[in-house]
Amino acid sequence: MHEHFINIPGRAIGTTHRLTWFTFDSGNDGPHVYVQGGLHADEGPGMLAARLLVDRLIEEDRAGKMRGKVTVVPAANPLALGQFLHGDQQGRFDHYDGRNFNRDYPDLTALAIALLGDTLTNDPQANTARIRQALLQALETIETSAPSDRLRHALMRLALPADVVIDLHCDGEAEVHLYTQPVSLERVLPLAALTRCRAVLVAEVSGGEPFDEALTKPWRSIAEAFPDNPILQGCASCTLELRGRMDVDRRLAADDVAELVNYLRHVGALAGNQSIPAMSCQPTPLAASEALVASVSGLLSYAIPLGHHVRAGDVVAEITDPITGELHPIQATTAGIFYARPATRIAEINKRLGKIAGTRPFRDGPLLSP
Ligand SMILES: [Zn+2]
Repeated sequence: MHEHFINIPGRAIGTTHRLTWFTFDSGNDGPHVYVQGGLHADEGPGMLAARLLVDRLIEEDRAGKMRGKVTVVPAANPLALGQFLHGDQQGRFDHYDGRNFNRDYPDLTALAIALLGDTLTNDPQANTARIRQALLQALETIETSAPSDRLRHALMRLALPADVVIDLHCDGEAEVHLYTQPVSLERVLPLAALTRCRAVLVAEVSGGEPFDEALTKPWRSIAEAFPDNPILQGCASCTLELRGRMDVDRRLAADDVAELVNYLRHVGALAGNQSIPAMSCQPTPLAASEALVASVSGLLSYAIPLGHHVRAGDVVAEITDPITGELHPIQATTAGIFYARPATRIAEINKRLGKIAGTRPFRDGPLLSP
């Protein structure tokens, strides 16, 4: 195990932010898996799981079980770990400019295509190595100065060499679920099965250039740009949502880590065989996920617990006006699993009240929450 860090210059005079990561490298050809937690710094479950994963990998490494490489970044956003408003951690948006820390990752496609020129061959493995190198080179040609962009680049630099990228997040309150793209699905479904995901939400482009998509998209586009060369999808990625913000629990995290270790075994980063259980859900289009929205303000209560299958027309939530006593039922228009909801119970107009994984796509434009 090796521990590494870089210092990212802070925006203010005399400040720096330290980004720390751990690598476990067998020196063999086995796959490279990258895991990070806390890109949204107010989401603790992923940070705990990532740190406990480091502890488990130290044991696996000592036992000589490493077969590939694993990179773990337990606290991926040291900038936002220092952001508080009146005593509350604020980790999703940069306080300086309001940008979501999981958006605006650079699209390296055009730069990498230019760098590749006519260097690709008929050897798919050699092409993978060449494309990876071009993507890293492309990243270095983009100049950044804002601390949040330096962080984006630092995380991409660590993740670009990986075959599989797992970005750990959480919702307000939620069942375990994940977001991925069609090109990643085959390699990500075993992880969804092992972690018993209740929703697997798939979109080719979800909008806003999130971290996971920025790592997979260039491979697809480069393959389209060079149709005469054999090009594999060099990276599969997903955003794995480990329940809700309050679910920071060493026992739950230890269970999650056991499944992450099983996944590492399945892909061959660790020694041993691993069978994959049946899926707890079928993948559904992200464009079919209904986001319930409050049409009035008031006190929010739920008529249906998380994880239940709702039908179109079911009352999922009730909003009570505390002054008039008026009751506003919020009905689902989509049938599917009710998989996430906010952690607060006072609704303002347009508050997002919950997410239902439907099967029939009906949305377009940006598909993720702001
Ligand atoms: Zn998040």
